[in-house]
Amino acid sequence: MEQLLENLIEECQQYVEKGEVASYIPELAKVDKNQLGICVISTTGKVYRAGDYLNSFTIQSVVKTIILLQALIDNGEEFVKERIGVEATGKPFDAINMRAGNLESQHLNPMVNMGAIAMCSLIKGRSEEEKFEKLLNLTRKLACNDSIEVNQDVYLSEKRTGNKNRALAYLLKSYGLIDGDVDAVLDTYFKACSISINCEDLACIGYCFASHGKPPRSDERIFESQYATYVNAILTTCGMYDGSGEFAINVGIPAKSGVGGGIMGVVPTRMGIGIFSPGLDDKGNSYAGIRVLERLSREMFLSIF
Ligand code: GLU
Repeated sequence: MEQLLENLIEECQQYVEKGEVASYIPELAKVDKNQLGICVISTTGKVYRAGDYLNSFTIQSVVKTIILLQALIDNGEEFVKERIGVEATGKPFDAINMRAGNLESQHLNPMVNMGAIAMCSLIKGRSEEEKFEKLLNLTRKLACNDSIEVNQDVYLSEKRTGNKNRALAYLLKSYGLIDGDVDAVLDTYFKACSISINCEDLACIGYCFASHGKPPRSDERIFESQYATYVNAILTTCGMYDGSGEFAINVGIPAKSGVGGGIMGVVPTRMGIGIFSPGLDDKGNSYAGIRVLERLSREMFLSIF
């Protein structure tokens, strides 16, 4: 397996140049795009790695899966579904999905910014600090890594320049779709996107969703099995932005990408996958990362379809 991963990384190295690093968050524009790494954790708990698997990057939109999980843990399925719709938007991550001049909860999707910002307001806690700590602790638990922290430079950079997200959040507020103070909710969202991880963390988080709540080599279930069904189903239809249909055909697994260049792959009952390469395609997905996943899926018959 390790040999296979090494071959894939070598074969796909040619694609790292083809993507562009995200530049709308100034701090991300400084990232060296010449990085490609992968980690796979199999059902036996065995960990396989290749390339730049130890390099750190910010989780960005992959954290939407964890925000959704935290919202489900705190409120239950029915409540969350009522507040944030589950239908695919087929639109980019920062789209305003209004219909007939109206914005309703059913127009939101947990994997698109508006839905994710609204979900941040569903996390329960006495203060915004407590809510974020809860999310960070869940991330650490899923990644089996207590030392995960926020990248302060990226957080401040996002906070300084995140005017589109600010606009989306105020729009949500004006339609009564977020409770509480808008800036406080946004702060939780910006911090969440700036959590710093590596491929192994990502593979471990993916593994927890693949195993319906059990971390590698553990029998302790850290969340209810049905929440993995909820999250994985949404990842299948919307995890790769407006590239989700193409990805379903070519790779065929629940997955979530982020503009930091990470992709988390979930192969239900089989494995968790973490990939990182910061050059993005025109949809905001890691260019080389997708190429690696396409080949891995073909080689190992990973498609769930
Ligand atoms: N922090 C980013 C934003 O909200 C996340 C976007 C992404 O990874 O798709 O703009």
